[in-house]
Formats: sequence, C-alpha cells, structure tokens
Amino acid sequence: DVTHGAILYLDDITVSFDGFKALNALNLNISAGEMRCIIGPNGAGKTTMMDVITGKTRPDVGKAFFGSTIDLLRLRENEIASIGIGRKFQKPTVFEHLTVFENLELALKADRGVRSSMFFRLTGEQLDRIGEILTLIHLRPSAQRVAGLLSHGQKQWLEIGMLLMQDPKLLLLDEPVAGMTDEETERTAELFLSLEGNHSLVVVEHDMKFIGELTQGGKNGKKVTVLHEGSVLAEGTLADVQANEKVVEVYLGR
Ligand code: ADP
Repeated sequence: DVTHGAILYLDDITVSFDGFKALNALNLNISAGEMRCIIGPNGAGKTTMMDVITGKTRPDVGKAFFGSTIDLLRLRENEIASIGIGRKFQKPTVFEHLTVFENLELALKADRGVRSSMFFRLTGEQLDRIGEILTLIHLRPSAQRVAGLLSHGQKQWLEIGMLLMQDPKLLLLDEPVAGMTDEETERTAELFLSLEGNHSLVVVEHDMKFIGELTQGGKNGKKVTVLHEGSVLAEGTLADVQANEKVVEVYLGR
C-alpha cells in the first residue's frame, strides 16, 4: 500500500500555469480522522492544492489517492464529490429564501436527483440526522428561519451543515472563519473539534488565533503544514512551525 494508510495521499504533485509552478513537487498525507491546518502566504498554492484534490485542476505529474485504492486523478470533479470529499469555499452559498431546515433537507436530497426528490419523504432516521447537525452547527433555535436572515457566520455554519448531510469522509475548508466575529470564530473551532475523529479535515486559514484554538483543543499533537512557493516549507506542531526559521523568514522577511 503506497499510501501508508492515509485517507488523502498527495505525492510529488506539480501544477504549472504557462511554465509557472503553482505547485512544485507537493507532498501531503492526511490520516483518517485527522484535522490538518494549512497556512502559507498568498500565492503559496493552497487553492491550487484544493483544486487538485477535488479534480478541478489536473497536475502535470504526481499521485493523488483517496484511501488506498481510489486514484483521484482518474476521476471527474462530480465523481470526486460523490465519493466522500466535501469542499467548502470561502463564500457561503446557501439558498437564501429557504429556511435553515429546508437547506439541510435539500442537501440530503441533492444526490438523489431532482425527479425523485420531488416525491421524497424524510425518514425518522434522516430527521434525527438533521436534528443532530442543527445542534452541531449551533442553529437548532434558527431551524425555521429563512437563511437570508442569518448572520455571515451562521450562513457559513449552515453550509458546513449541508456538506455534513452527505456524510463526507474528508472535508476541505477554505478560510472558514474569514469575516466572522470573535465569538463566531470560537464557536466554529468548537464545531470543527467535534467533527475531528469522525471526519478528516483540511483547513486552510490565515487566522492564527483560530489555528491556535483548533490545534490546542481536541486530540493532542495536531500538525500544521506551511506551504510556500508550491511545496511544503515546514510541517509539525504549531509551536514547531512558528519557531521554524524558514517560516519566520517567509512571513516576516519581506
Ligand atoms: P494561494 O491559494 O495559496 O493564495 P493559489 O493556489 O491561488 O495560492 O496560487 C498559486 C500561484 O499560482 C499564484 O502565483 C497564482 O497567481 C498562480 N495561479 C493560480 N491559478 C492560476 C491560473 N489559473 N492561471 C495562472 N496562474 C495561476
């Protein structure tokens, strides 16, 4: 097993745009149930990495596996979404005129196709699942509110809830707390920590306070990966990477 039991295995991934290497021999291994924070300055290749994992961008070279058997580079974008990889972009895309509950309901039906969803009734089990997710995303009291009336942070939580309705094994989150209040940021950390273990999470974030909350809470010894110029500059505990001279230079030395 070349993937050494990783849920996500990226090996030697290179992506060029007109000769410029947005990713340059990138390696990344994520274990099942792991939460990994990814940091790096603008242009480091974080978005391109997410695009490779989700099939939006094809690398020139390299390997990308989901679990030990699924070769991501052989799958199309829509196929990758259906095998248990959920991606949350920075901007929330909820259905503003539907209620919180209806948004979650729709997310559950989405993979069944429109025709069958018209006649689809929720089972007791599915109702329970929606209830659990409402609690996780701190929106149980707002279940009947129209999503358009939620705060920015609440919309982000709702979108995470919609991803969770598909029960993804791996969640990719792009700057999830951008634009959130301090309190919303703290509650988002709480939410992510409650997902750790049952899901693997890759969190791209600039907010160091948030990364501190994620790495200090929950399981011990969580790793942070620092990307720079398309490859891994440093990897280790938050304290390790913050003390790393190369990392300090990249962040402060220009
Ligand atoms: P990050 O998300 O870390 O800010 P990106 O992955 O967006 O970094 O970008 C990495 C580098 O690749 C940047 O220099 C960016 O300008 C370049 N890049 C990204 N996408 C494209 C593209 N479609 N065409 C040309 N250059 C691109």
